[in-house]
Amino acid sequence: MTLANDLDPSTIAAQAGGAVDAPSGGVVPPIQASTTFLRDERYALVNPDNIYARDNSDIVRVAESVLARLEGAEEALLFPSGMAAIAALFRTLPNGASVVAQSGIYWGTTKWLRDFSARRDIALHEVDASDAAALEQACAAHSPAIMFIETPSNPWLKTVDIAAAARAAHAVGGLLAVDSTAATPVLQRPLAHGADIVMHSATKGINGHSDVLAGVLATAAPAAAVWSDIKADRHDAGAVIGPFEAWLLLRGMRTLPLRMERMSRTAQAIAEWLAAHPKVTDVFYPGLSTHPGHQVAARQMQDGFGCLLSFLVEGGAAEALAVVGRLKLFHRATSLGGVESLVEHRHTIEPHTGIPESLIRVSVGIEHVHDLIADLEQALG
Ligand SMILES: *Cc1c(COP(=O)(O)O)cnc(C)c1O
Repeated sequence: MTLANDLDPSTIAAQAGGAVDAPSGGVVPPIQASTTFLRDERYALVNPDNIYARDNSDIVRVAESVLARLEGAEEALLFPSGMAAIAALFRTLPNGASVVAQSGIYWGTTKWLRDFSARRDIALHEVDASDAAALEQACAAHSPAIMFIETPSNPWLKTVDIAAAARAAHAVGGLLAVDSTAATPVLQRPLAHGADIVMHSATKGINGHSDVLAGVLATAAPAAAVWSDIKADRHDAGAVIGPFEAWLLLRGMRTLPLRMERMSRTAQAIAEWLAAHPKVTDVFYPGLSTHPGHQVAARQMQDGFGCLLSFLVEGGAAEALAVVGRLKLFHRATSLGGVESLVEHRHTIEPHTGIPESLIRVSVGIEHVHDLIADLEQALG
């Protein structure tokens, strides 16, 4: 079934990959597990799309086409993790290239990028990209081949003006890549604001059930050289997602808009409640009108501000850990974007990254807002 392109994302998602299994009549697509595909007597491929599973999988292509439509992209590529997607992007750079990357983002990205840049003589410049003037200055000074931003950022929830970042990168002949994980394609579509490549850890909100590791790159310009290089890298180096994971991802995506709507509404209510709590000294959530990036977020996001928020409690690590330890509904675990609420004391995990000892990061799930606030209330005391 071909759907018109102007359908609402919730309609596209609800029918993701649906009604394609002609042999069985199933309304969900089947999983084809084969690693290799037949040729006929004249040695022609029985299905010209499928030779070998390293880069040929019907279910992966179906999941990619749904992601591309939700993102407003021409093409999307799936990877076995978010980090594999990031690595495929940066491996397209020649040795000695220049990169401008946002500081204070997902630590795994920063760490990998620093190690990779050191090995490849890449000049890596880290800058607080929420400061548009600083970002433009860094761009003018270093002419990066790739500018990499993450908005909203994890765990600081900083907001970067995507359109301004794209202008700054393009002015020096570079391209803009945006890690849009915390927003998912439902709440933010960076390509519409001038980004060249969008990246997601689909492990998070896109899958939404904390049971699949996956990554995505998407573009509006599949003819660009960088995109052919990324495709060749995935095909040749083999960082592919398995058919079962792609199938689970499709199932998760069917409820993605519904989940993001609920989670954003609940996260907004929790952020407002926390902001008024006497034991909370600061709340970081782009949906709060007091957030320094609120205006930018309101301009470039739609239908909510996501499930991720951080807050500071009175006192230090001991007080923060005591609050986290008293929570009964929020699971103490890393990651975000799942249907179950999670809480993290990031300083314990990453003491060297400058995260305040009193910072508590929360990923809001789909539980009832009253239950979540009651849990936070008893934990804060
Ligand atoms: C989790 C995450 C990643 C890495 O994704 P994996 O799927 O865990 O490899 C990258 N960026 C952000 C913002 C993330 O939250």
